[in-house]
Amino acid sequence: MLDQYGRNINYMRISITDRCNLRCRYCMPEGVTCPEGHDDILRYEEILRVCRAAVALGITRFKITGGEPLVRKGCADLIAQMKALPGLEQVTLTTNGLLLASKLDALCAAGLDALNISLDTLDPEKFRAITGWPDFSAGELRALLANCCTRGLRTKLNAVLLEENRDEAVELAALAEEFPVDMRFIELMPIGFGGSMTRVSPDEVLGQLKTHWPDLHPTEEKRGNGPAHYYASAALQGRIGFIDAVSHAFCADCNRVRLTSTGQLKPCLSFESTLDLRALLRSGCTEEELQTALEQAIYRKPRAHSFERREEMTEHRTMSQIGG
Ligand code: SAM
Ligand code: SF4
Repeated sequence: MLDQYGRNINYMRISITDRCNLRCRYCMPEGVTCPEGHDDILRYEEILRVCRAAVALGITRFKITGGEPLVRKGCADLIAQMKALPGLEQVTLTTNGLLLASKLDALCAAGLDALNISLDTLDPEKFRAITGWPDFSAGELRALLANCCTRGLRTKLNAVLLEENRDEAVELAALAEEFPVDMRFIELMPIGFGGSMTRVSPDEVLGQLKTHWPDLHPTEEKRGNGPAHYYASAALQGRIGFIDAVSHAFCADCNRVRLTSTGQLKPCLSFESTLDLRALLRSGCTEEELQTALEQAIYRKPRAHSFERREEMTEHRTMSQIGG
């Protein structure tokens, strides 16, 4: 459907939990608790109702996110049920990868269309410093990537650019040389704890990559739902992507809305304003009422985020609470 600025909104990111088994320092650092209780979180049948209404409005692409979506039981079953909705085009998932090896069979059987794995570093010490996880193994990560590729599952890797990994960009990007996967670098957004951390310039990182792969050049290929812009090199099987939401805002082409784990519809990352779909669903609304409320909230999606004018931001929750 079109919003008030004529943008085609066809993509919804759905958070199914605010819990996580990692403690990434820009998202949910050590000591942060997950405030939502069991009953506060949308049940799967409630999420499916929202999906059905969204598909009727032309939102046909969904990304399952969190918190860490794979810590919630039944994630693969939810995906299978979503995939059965008439008119739906694709369901993808973003995960920190920790539980992925044991869930890959179920996710593939459910019909998952593509996968994003968040990976900020290949160095176990840095991994511990960034995420709190003590047992990272680059060998296991490579085995996981090989497994995904053998199954033909479209896979992308995402690294948030941080002081810890600003010198590791070539090593991370080389995974796109070794495997047919895209490696994407995400500019740190001033959401939650990210707001008080140093931002690393994507242009600086692109410079490093161009020194290593001199033929690296922009490509117009569309590779997924989002705003990433991509670069190709003859040496790489996959592509290198950048998601620089702050320095190169892509709001004019934004196609997404978010559903938090507690059922708040969130049209823009920067603003807290939401539609309380959980209250509506639990008030016994009809399908028509649900669809109308959704349509009105999406239509009013703000024109642009205010990451560069922080005083105008009204969103103060963490990315894990919002659903990144
Ligand atoms: N746990 C899953 C994961 O890590 O992929 C899904 C949820 S996580 C919030 C989704 C994505 O948001 C991750 O790639 C994470 O790195 C990114 N993220 C979290 N906080 C961010 C921030 N302040 N700026 C940019 N990206 C952020
Ligand atoms: Fe967990 Fe993902 Fe946030 Fe890291 S980025 S703390 S893995 S939700």
